[in-house]
Amino acid sequence: MTGEPLISVHDLSVHFPIGGAGFGQKRFVHAVDRVSIDIAPGTFFGLVGESGSGKTTLGRALLKAVPLTSGHVQYTENGIDFDLRDISKADLKEYRKRCQLIFQDPYAALSPRMTVRDIIAEPLEVMKITSSREETDERVREIAAMCRINIEHLRRFPHAFSGGQRQRISIARALVCKPRFLVADECVAALDVSIQADILNLLNSLQKDLGLTFLFISHDLSVVAHTCDHVAVMYLGQIVESAPTKKLFANTRHPYTKTLLSAIPHLDPDAEKTAIKLEGEIPSPINPPPGCKFHTRCPYARDRCKVESPEWREFDEDHFAACHFSEELSL
Ligand code: SF4
Repeated sequence: MTGEPLISVHDLSVHFPIGGAGFGQKRFVHAVDRVSIDIAPGTFFGLVGESGSGKTTLGRALLKAVPLTSGHVQYTENGIDFDLRDISKADLKEYRKRCQLIFQDPYAALSPRMTVRDIIAEPLEVMKITSSREETDERVREIAAMCRINIEHLRRFPHAFSGGQRQRISIARALVCKPRFLVADECVAALDVSIQADILNLLNSLQKDLGLTFLFISHDLSVVAHTCDHVAVMYLGQIVESAPTKKLFANTRHPYTKTLLSAIPHLDPDAEKTAIKLEGEIPSPINPPPGCKFHTRCPYARDRCKVESPEWREFDEDHFAACHFSEELSL
């Protein structure tokens, strides 16, 4: 990556304690384990992996919505700097204006008792960004137009809208306080395919028009391929491969990435024959396997993989992976 990252994550771990007094030794869910990534400003950074891989926790850690166990998350923009590990309450308020979340489920994310106007205006009022009702209304109308919401609809309640329209309301609410960085967590997963395309196109045009930076979380590599500039693949709390999107697809270096690529539906029957099928369930993050965490499911695993964690290595410019045998495997 050239230039300074907007978000720099270094050696970040998020572990949640489970059990407690009376349950013997304290145990931890290793939701995010020693993750390092850099997110360039003005880009779509994709984060993919199965359910339980830690994607959502990592996204929430970047919003400081969960406590960080160790490591650092640094936000840098035009001389403004926040280190989320030691951020003060006052700085956290400022940081929250710059970083917002787009929720997965547009049905659960919107209060049924509030009008669309009030839903979109809420962050402005909670964070005291506007100083009068007129100013709030003007900003709400401006962002509603950008998100292709009919101004006439601002007085209606969410139940009057389809899933795609509701997701546009969610996006407008996330954007109303002019953030620079957005975490979009599976934000099209609950929508029909045709509506997904509409929302992805909207996000793309907003990103270009407003110079936004996205962490785009998805379990679906085909959606990520369509949208993102850079992709990181997560497995059991760790990033196993990270590369610009074209490089990741053209020259996959990690067997887990290959299995996700193989899961993309294909029209070519020959592609089916070379596909790697992922067997079994993702292991528990409470007691992750030693060595390479993927060894219990990897079709290429050898004895070394069971005891030795693979190093994080750069194979090509900005293309990293963690597998002992990346050079030898023909993926
Ligand atoms: Fe598979 Fe071993 Fe590579 Fe891990 S290190 S991905 S188990 S081959």
